[in-house]
Amino acid sequence: MTGLDIIEKARQEKRTILTEIEAKQILGEIGINCTDTRLATTKQEAVALSEEMGYPVVLKISSVDITHKSDAGGVKVNLKDRAEVEKAFDEIMTSCRAACPDADIEGVAVQGMAKTGTEIIMGMIKDPSFGPVVMFGLGGVLVEVLKDVSFRIVPIEKKDAIEMTGEIQGKKLLEGYRGQEPADIAYLQDMLLKLSDFVDNTPGIEEIDMNPVFTYKEGAAVVDARIILA
Ligand code: ADP
Ligand code: MG
Repeated sequence: MTGLDIIEKARQEKRTILTEIEAKQILGEIGINCTDTRLATTKQEAVALSEEMGYPVVLKISSVDITHKSDAGGVKVNLKDRAEVEKAFDEIMTSCRAACPDADIEGVAVQGMAKTGTEIIMGMIKDPSFGPVVMFGLGGVLVEVLKDVSFRIVPIEKKDAIEMTGEIQGKKLLEGYRGQEPADIAYLQDMLLKLSDFVDNTPGIEEIDMNPVFTYKEGAAVVDARIILA
């Protein structure tokens, strides 16, 4: 299924929220690097996929009704063997059913454990006056507490992407603060351009949220993604 098929299928099912698996597939198709993420509908499938992908893995609840997965106990990271995957599967199901009794659960998303890097967020929201805008900022606590984010109206050009990564207050963290590995800022600018192009050419998208994206000395990896259709 292509990205456009996924969007079409969701529309037919009268859904506006895409799952993490669907969102990553769409973003992957436009050249944005996402951790390989696949659906397991049973515990046995989760184990089989984990063995195929190689440990350590991450298991996450996959449900269109649960968008804040950690809050529902739906994320287990750094699972190192079969026993840990089986236990995580049971724990995720138990806590998500308790937290969201009416949720339609399709299974769990199995994905590789991404190497840690400085966390950023990237996405698109619709501004009531300006229409679609792309967003870039530091992830985790910094975005929640300081709202250290920059925005530009879609479509953006390279110079806008350069301004966006340069104008956040925490940009020093990306440049390699106190021995921390510097982020591949040119790569992040290129991701912003790809995101803007996609939004500009794909009608009917309400919101895109990549949170977090791990940045590295070379490249970056999207570990969580969400897309909402209009
Ligand atoms: P939520 O729906 O709660 O936002 P996330 O998918 O963002 O769930 O997962 C919560 C946290 O778990 C992330 O912020 C990240 O720190 C960690 N995480 C998620 N997926 C991975 C992964 N594939 N590799 C490494 N860490 C991950
Ligand atoms: Mg997240």
